[in-house]
Amino acid sequence: MLDEFGGKAGTAEAIEWGTLANENPPVLHTHDRFGNRCDEVAFHPAYHQVMRLSVGYGIHNLPWANPQRGAHVARAALAMLASQNEAGHVCPVSMTYSAVPVLRRNAGLAREWEPRVHSNVYDPSFRAASEKSGALIGMAMTEKQGGSDVRANTTRAEPMGADEYIIDGHKWFCSAPMCDAFLVLAQAPGGLTCFFLPRWTPDGQRNGFHLQRLKSKLGNRANASGEVEFHRAWSRRIGEEGRGVATIIEMVNHTRLDCIMGSAALMRQALVQAVHHARHRRAFGSALIDQPLMRNVLADLAIESEAATLLLMRVARAFDEGDRAFARLAVAIGKFWISKRAAAFTAEALECLGGNGYVEESMMPRLYREAPLNSIWEGSGNVIALDVLRAIAKEPEALEQVLAEIRITGDARVENFTENIRSTVSEGVARRFSERLAIALQASLMIRFSPAAMADAFCASRLGGDCGRVFGTLPPETDWNSVIALCDEAGHGE
Ligand SMILES: Cc1cc2nc3c(=O)[nH]c(=O)nc-3n(C[C@H](O)[C@H](O)[C@H](O)COP(=O)(O)OP(=O)(O)OC[C@H]3O[C@@H](n4cnc5c(N)ncnc54)[C@H](O)[C@@H]3O)c2cc1C
Repeated sequence: MLDEFGGKAGTAEAIEWGTLANENPPVLHTHDRFGNRCDEVAFHPAYHQVMRLSVGYGIHNLPWANPQRGAHVARAALAMLASQNEAGHVCPVSMTYSAVPVLRRNAGLAREWEPRVHSNVYDPSFRAASEKSGALIGMAMTEKQGGSDVRANTTRAEPMGADEYIIDGHKWFCSAPMCDAFLVLAQAPGGLTCFFLPRWTPDGQRNGFHLQRLKSKLGNRANASGEVEFHRAWSRRIGEEGRGVATIIEMVNHTRLDCIMGSAALMRQALVQAVHHARHRRAFGSALIDQPLMRNVLADLAIESEAATLLLMRVARAFDEGDRAFARLAVAIGKFWISKRAAAFTAEALECLGGNGYVEESMMPRLYREAPLNSIWEGSGNVIALDVLRAIAKEPEALEQVLAEIRITGDARVENFTENIRSTVSEGVARRFSERLAIALQASLMIRFSPAAMADAFCASRLGGDCGRVFGTLPPETDWNSVIALCDEAGHGE
């Protein structure tokens, strides 16, 4: 399936869809021609094409619609291919995948909505979900007064009997607003609570979901991110009143996995573009890829991309195996570190193309603009680093499990690197701690699963500190030929 999907996502036609979907961003229509509110977003046909392709392969539902060993890993690999082509559309795909475990906490809702989500038909029509051949689910938590601090939310929910509520308030960020329903946090009488808010009410009316504006964003332009107000919007409660964060966190953990995935995908695509260019561009008498200093840069990028991909797959496996404590901590450290690396990585890869990398046709500006996003949404860097500490405080065995896996190799380089790691478990140095834990876990994975040349270069530079502060500063002993041979294979994907 991966081969087949990769073949489709990598065609010239699909790559063109990605370009067009970004060059022609979505347009908001708040009112129809008679002045009635409609709150619809129009997308370029190319956006619908990339959506149809990804939904057609079940990237929004695979582990739930087809539960089997390795389903989260397989889905992560598919999503990585989709993201390498076009990152923006993966937002609703990812949110739908992530919403299902939360949906299941309300049996009635799950009975009604899961079959819709399990459909691999992409149906972009704006109608009640009961009339559609497939449905997608988004999420709206962030408010103006502070997104990270969701307990400060002011949106209110008034009980109407059973699990039905009426919601009034706003959300400052609400991506993919053409999804069929949203998980929303609002203040109920018993405290902050999670709700399921569809775009249409059960009696076939447009719900009180009013789009005020679409954000004008740095990147991620194919995806619409709206500002929304709720005016007596009909919704259903999921979980108990006052347990909103505890309920929605399951969705957040899955979208965090996709922040790792999205960053690993950006790195991989940027690397492939850089290697391809270096293989074909000649300067000072030979191909760039044969110039020693360019080999150092490409090799350094290649091992970073490898380490990001390995960590992604390891965390996805923890989701598959229901390894809850490990997954909870590993997804946070992975999200912190890999999404932070993506911005520096894409900048360096872009530079490998010289001036051509600064020009839109090369695709590199799009990757560069996208790169900071995964570090911001679903918990910005500091918030995630603090969450790493929270996860450890709540479940100390999570740290023991991650450290046990790190040390499984018995490798002296890893042992030395992690020797005093527990001394940095405190708020002011939470970034330092998260970074070190992530690098150590990557090293352990590299030693076990990567070619020795790559693992050795990773350990020497990332654990042993035998490198500078920019990419392209691997030590002179690095086995360039082996690393570049692997790099070069990556560059054959044109
Ligand atoms: C393109 C895009 C799409 C988005 N889509 C959605 C969506 O669909 N649904 C949704 O709900 N949200 C969405 N978001 C919102 C996103 O999740 C928030 O922007 C993010 O969680 C940060 O919240 P904030 O913007 O309010 O920043 P703030 O909470 O104000 O944080 C600002 C900075 O302060 C830091 N900080 C916060 N608290 C602390 C602390 N205690 N100690 C140290 N530092 C701290 C943060 O790390 C951050 O760097 C989207 C954002 C973007 C950019």
